[in-house]
Amino acid sequence: MSYATTLNETHDPELTSWVESANQENCDFPIQNLPFAVFRRAGSNEAFRGGVAIGDQIVDLAAAKNSGLFSGVAQEALNHCDSPELNDYMAMGKSAWSALRLALSKALRTGSDAQSKLSQCLVAQNEAEYSLPCRIGDYTDFYTSIYHATSVGKLFRPDNPLLPNYKWVPIGYHGRSSSIEVSGSNFKRPKGQIKAPDASEPVLAPCKRLDYEMEVGIYIGNGNNLGDTIDIDSAEDHVFGICLFNDWSARDIQGWEYQPLGPFLAKNFASTVSPWIITTEALAPFRCAWHRDESEPQPLPYLESEQNRQTGSYDIQLEVQLETANMREAGQPASHLSLSSFKHSYWTVAQMVAHHTVNGCNLQPGDMLGSGTQSGPTHEEAGSMLELSNGGKQTINLDNGEARTFLEDGDTVIMRGWCQKEGAKRIGFGEVAATILAAD
Ligand code: CA
Repeated sequence: MSYATTLNETHDPELTSWVESANQENCDFPIQNLPFAVFRRAGSNEAFRGGVAIGDQIVDLAAAKNSGLFSGVAQEALNHCDSPELNDYMAMGKSAWSALRLALSKALRTGSDAQSKLSQCLVAQNEAEYSLPCRIGDYTDFYTSIYHATSVGKLFRPDNPLLPNYKWVPIGYHGRSSSIEVSGSNFKRPKGQIKAPDASEPVLAPCKRLDYEMEVGIYIGNGNNLGDTIDIDSAEDHVFGICLFNDWSARDIQGWEYQPLGPFLAKNFASTVSPWIITTEALAPFRCAWHRDESEPQPLPYLESEQNRQTGSYDIQLEVQLETANMREAGQPASHLSLSSFKHSYWTVAQMVAHHTVNGCNLQPGDMLGSGTQSGPTHEEAGSMLELSNGGKQTINLDNGEARTFLEDGDTVIMRGWCQKEGAKRIGFGEVAATILAAD
């Protein structure tokens, strides 16, 4: 059994914390979760530093480092967590991640001797602002939902929706990391070259078919040297954790530019991550079997393993909501758009990592892999408006009577994620949200 699939005392569903809010039903951040972010008090000029969520609080890891409560590997790990970028901590690898998780779990448990000192290291989440949790050197976006690939393929290429390589290659492209921002970073509607189907020439104009993509972001911990590969069974030892990821997409720009080399300006104007990274260790109880139907091509040997078959997938619920400017003004709740699960992914995280490195490409601490839009098998599980509106031909009706085919200025897209199953404590991802501003 690998580190990423093994359950230990930190997953015990009976554990409770002296931070009372962590024990509430449906809390995203119980003591079994312990996700990482980089934060400071909002509006202050404090340095950004690492934090771990517990209930509605954050354990300030810079304060915890100096608390005298920790020792050994956990203290060495904390020595790397007071930075505004967690790359050095992520590079330490699974034994350091596990040691710090266990030490924090013990210190936060009901009855712990650490309570009086550690309670001095808490900052309320509603007083915090976040930055990116690490320096994302490189970002690769995969395309792992066959349901998304097929329905988008039908819209762009009606007679040839799924290209023949899809079932053999975990398809991806190298994205741009400079435009990845943290939840709450609003952005202007992009402009670009757009050519209407009946026009003879393109024009430069604000995007009219602005969309979101519901993805998860996979953060690499310790990487590999250039020229080395990461085999499938040790792949997840290199994965620090998973966040929510909105890969904003300009469909009209995309339609004109994407052939022959793939996505470019349709994708690199904004992408948004949730502040919290849920560690692979916290996700261990929610792993599930990965299937490849017998009628489908079976993976090549470097993408195949018994461990991947048994526990390669993650059952992470992924929900998208839309809050329009009118809803906000009227104090109405956001409208539900879709709900799916990462378990439907055609390729697993381990297969993505093994494939990415099979040619010797080096992954580095803090690199991010986008999963690709996670659409499930039914229409209600579609992870983009392109699919929900059937390419803009069908309106999506919202709870307050408004309708959309694509996003309008003032729209806020909110994504949430959580894991839940019998015999385990429910854990949540928090949310990722951002608002579309008008083009210049
Ligand atoms: Ca994408």
